[in-house]
Amino acid sequence: MKCVICKNGEVVKAPVQAEIKVGYDHLMVTVQAEACAECGEPYYSAETMRHLERLREEFTRKKIVPPSVGKVYQIC
Ligand SMILES: [Zn+2]
Repeated sequence: MKCVICKNGEVVKAPVQAEIKVGYDHLMVTVQAEACAECGEPYYSAETMRHLERLREEFTRKKIVPPSVGKVYQIC
């Protein structure tokens, strides 16, 4: 499959780090997906999308509390 973004690269299976944003929190999830070898555009299967949606739900409701790997700082 050719990438629809750059129309140049080949889309290949690759681990992709997806980012789920909930308010100021960012949840990073590494999933097996496909990505463009040229521009890195990720492609998720319907199954993976559902998986990410479920994680977003659980994260939003604090059903899962993954360890924090970084913090967001802000200067007003
Ligand atoms: Zn591409």
